[in-house]
Amino acid sequence: MQTPTTPSPTYTLPSDHRARLERALVALDGLSVGDALGEKFFAAGSLAMIAQRATPMGSWHTTDDTEMAISIVDVLERYGQIEQDELALFFARRWSRDPGRGYGGGAIRLLRAVSEGGPWRALSKQLFSGGGSYGNGGAMRVAPLGAYFAEDSDEVVIEQARRSAEVTHGHPEGQAGAIAIALAAAHAWRTRNQPVGDERALLQWVYDRTPDSTVRAKLAKALDLAPNSSVGFAAGVLGTGAYISAQDTVPFCVWAASRCLGSFEDAFWTTVEGLGDRDTTCAIVGGIVACRVGREGIPAAWLAAREPLVRGLGL
Ligand SMILES: [Mg+2]
Repeated sequence: MQTPTTPSPTYTLPSDHRARLERALVALDGLSVGDALGEKFFAAGSLAMIAQRATPMGSWHTTDDTEMAISIVDVLERYGQIEQDELALFFARRWSRDPGRGYGGGAIRLLRAVSEGGPWRALSKQLFSGGGSYGNGGAMRVAPLGAYFAEDSDEVVIEQARRSAEVTHGHPEGQAGAIAIALAAAHAWRTRNQPVGDERALLQWVYDRTPDSTVRAKLAKALDLAPNSSVGFAAGVLGTGAYISAQDTVPFCVWAASRCLGSFEDAFWTTVEGLGDRDTTCAIVGGIVACRVGREGIPAAWLAAREPLVRGLGL
């Protein structure tokens, strides 16, 4: 496998790079806690535990959502932007060192090929009979990116999110899902010192800026839900990742994050109650809400139960 290259002198890190990176790491903590805890609720007896808001004992292991988010953070730390060739190599290298993290079939095919020297751009477009992936993988890992670029323009957030998704998700829906979540994380950070207010405010803001797509059309459906809709009803209308697509994952996640923006715990329990692809939905919502509540808003016991994150390529 190729080794990620040393950054070229043309990569100038922004003057506030450390503050950006710290924001991204807060989002990564929220994402990884959501991922690891959400994954626990696939086990037998989960419905009763969710009803009681009871967390499982022992260590909570992270999955592919966190693995790929770490690669995004590592690329941002090194380059201050999404360098796609490097990101593809970071993804592939983490997968090849630790493949048992629940990666999807399409991701495995792509990352194996990239790890063998294949060109990510052509491979990403060839997935799924040439349409490219519209899975939720671009969205599941992107909240730290939204945090890193939160003080840039919306256009920068959108373009960097699109670039981060394109490496594995050639389909516009997969990219729109990543854009929506990056925007949500950025907006959560920007509004962290304001009252939470209308529980649909974040949802409306994200809808207004998400590219035309089925993801966006389903964000409109989320806006049409009555304010007192139950989680089960919202999950039924919007989907919670049963098809692991961006379209049936992202709208519910933005709805849940918007409704519970002021509380990491409420956001988690609301999201996991929707069942579905719950490591990923909880990772997405955890990453967004952490941008709003900060690391101190994530229960300390949850952070302690999540396995330690190992960043970098040393693994
Ligand atoms: Mg996963």
